[in-house]
Amino acid sequence: MTAHAGGDGDDGASDPSGAAGAASEPGISGAASNPGGPVAPSEPGGSADCLFCRIVAGAEPASIVHADDAVVAFLDAVPVNPGHVLVVPRVHASGLVDLPVDVGAAVWRVAHRIAAFMRSDPAWSEGVNLHLSDGAVADQSVGHVHLHVIPRFKDDGLRIVQDRDPARPSRDELDAVAARLSRDLTKAASSS
Ligand SMILES: [Zn+2]
Repeated sequence: MTAHAGGDGDDGASDPSGAAGAASEPGISGAASNPGGPVAPSEPGGSADCLFCRIVAGAEPASIVHADDAVVAFLDAVPVNPGHVLVVPRVHASGLVDLPVDVGAAVWRVAHRIAAFMRSDPAWSEGVNLHLSDGAVADQSVGHVHLHVIPRFKDDGLRIVQDRDPARPSRDELDAVAARLSRDLTKAASSS
């Protein structure tokens, strides 16, 4: 599945990580300039090479929407619509595997609150997408976990499409995959 941002898409916002595929994920590169000011304190585990760690540390400008002990939420520099927010953990984690589950829950809590508010006010959205890309093949272009809260409007130009006809496996095939995944999840949980 690939997400395509409408409009001018990649407007050249910097992605110092140099990761490929920045144009494919809707507007996740960089953060807007803003007088919102620092979001200190900085996170000890952060990386100077990571754009979002620098934002969390207040070393990079961003338009802050929310900040608490675990999470910072700021506007995407290349928004699909006004109010397109990125919710990031203060602690650096390149992917979900590296992110403590309780911090992930804190990220979700903030995203849920923002998205639920947007759904309650038609001036902010007619619908919402929550979107998280984990890994280069999933079009993650900044290597610090971030959850998009994307306010949506009819015909706003964002399409989430699959470039081939979707498969429709039989129930037996689905059950076999479910059994395998359930078994592997249980095995992973018992070994951790
Ligand atoms: Zn980081």
